[in-house]
Amino acid sequence: MEELERFIEYDPAGFTLREAIIEAKRCLHCSKPRCRTGCPIENEIPDFIEAMAHGNLGSASTIIAKHSNLPAVCGRVCPHEKQCEGSCILNKQGKGIKVGKIERFIADMDGDLALIPAVIKEKRSGRIAVIGSGPAGLTVAGDLAKMGFSVTVYDAQQEAGGVLMYGIPEFRLPKQVVRREVKKIANLGVQFNLNTMIGPSLTLDNLFEQGFDAVFIGTGNALAKSLSLPGIKLPGAVQATYFLQMVELANQGSVDAMEVPIHPGDNVVIIGAGNTAIDAARTAIRREAASVTVLNRDRESHIAALASEVASARKEGVNFTSLRRPLELIGEYFVTGVLCHIMSDPGEGKDLIPTEKTSIIPANKVIIAIGQRPASRIIGSTKGIEVDESGYVKTRDIPYGMSMRSGVFSGGDVVNGPATVVKAMKDAKTVAKGIAQYVEAKKLMEKCGLKMTD
Ligand SMILES: Cc1cc2nc3c(=O)[nH]c(=O)nc-3n(C[C@H](O)[C@H](O)[C@H](O)COP(=O)(O)OP(=O)(O)OC[C@H]3O[C@@H](n4cnc5c(N)ncnc54)[C@H](O)[C@@H]3O)c2cc1C
Ligand code: SF4
Repeated sequence: MEELERFIEYDPAGFTLREAIIEAKRCLHCSKPRCRTGCPIENEIPDFIEAMAHGNLGSASTIIAKHSNLPAVCGRVCPHEKQCEGSCILNKQGKGIKVGKIERFIADMDGDLALIPAVIKEKRSGRIAVIGSGPAGLTVAGDLAKMGFSVTVYDAQQEAGGVLMYGIPEFRLPKQVVRREVKKIANLGVQFNLNTMIGPSLTLDNLFEQGFDAVFIGTGNALAKSLSLPGIKLPGAVQATYFLQMVELANQGSVDAMEVPIHPGDNVVIIGAGNTAIDAARTAIRREAASVTVLNRDRESHIAALASEVASARKEGVNFTSLRRPLELIGEYFVTGVLCHIMSDPGEGKDLIPTEKTSIIPANKVIIAIGQRPASRIIGSTKGIEVDESGYVKTRDIPYGMSMRSGVFSGGDVVNGPATVVKAMKDAKTVAKGIAQYVEAKKLMEKCGLKMTD
């Protein structure tokens, strides 16, 4: 009981045991469950909800673990309104099942109380190096470890999790939740080599020299896209991903709080209106900024971020200014505002028209949140991995996820572009199967005295 109380305290926005069971009991256990179709990794939603309705948390956890290595994360940050919950049949009666909150409750209980043991199939020969410990890398590592392979994860950061640790803010995804999920993967036998950047000194070729049979690249979109506007280099302009990362590093005690670029009393303008922009805006509010304004170049109805996140941001005091295209960051020695072109809206379906008018939005801090792209540290330090004109790794269908270089696989955002946690996981799950096929074939050929070729 004490554990349960502590747990409820730890996740005040989540369900209590009683609430989770009551919600689960509403589920119709449909024969053709739309919720499952709406889930990118086709989680067995009706089955784990039924187990929850019977109060059987162990079974519910076992069912979830068949499809996901990161349920406590997905239960919090998946866009449920567009996926499982948005697809639930009960929405027709006005109240779809809160699938995300049920999943989160089950996963948190499992993380807290270790309800189910780690299931590892018989140990197989084959060593795989995973570069990047975001949702893609963690999924590949977890799935291959469950299949019995030896897996070592390398990440440049001091803690594993990728964007889960250094992008999505604490108030949406507590870092203790990420650490618990990573620990569960480590308990499968996965080794983590952190603070290790692959590319400049330790190269991908060095990993093969160390005896790895295959390498997975899941390095995400590490570089923030820049804006070519006059004044963009003025002190006071900062990238959203850098700001969010510095906040987390300050939370961890790795940097001084004064090094975080937003301070109490700042007037902040955010350029961009996607999910990263909203995370930056809500974080700036929590840093006690005097004002935070999201500058949206499009119509009010076309804000790219999730509607629920925008609603939360508004409630917390974030202003939204739409139909403004930034032209210049103004200021002599330090940014003092953003000069914008005012656009006119001729109506839905028609292109916005630039007017003659401009306006200046005062700010002493400007956060740029217009997207990310892949870095080229690995591609630039090894041969044979092809990328497209934007830097995304090209992969094959057979074996799924293998790059143009034999034995090197890739998946997640570094292949598919910026997406979501669950989409990176979905892709990574299929790549893990491709890696297993490749390594098994390689080992068989080695036994026959043969070598793999392209
Ligand atoms: C601020 C922000 C908020 C988001 N919010 C949500 C959300 O609420 N819901 C949602 O579903 N999605 C969200 N996303 C998107 C989601 O986080 C990504 O789609 C997902 O993390 C991609 O996973 P990944 O494993 O491909 O890459 P990443 O999570 O980017 O992980 C890549 C990892 O590779 C490491 N790495 C990179 N290069 C090297 C190298 N050379 N050597 C060693 N390690 C390296 C990095 O340190 C990092 O740990 C958000 C993204 C951002 C930026
Ligand atoms: S669609 Fe809704 S009611 Fe039907 S099984 Fe899924 S969660 Fe339950």
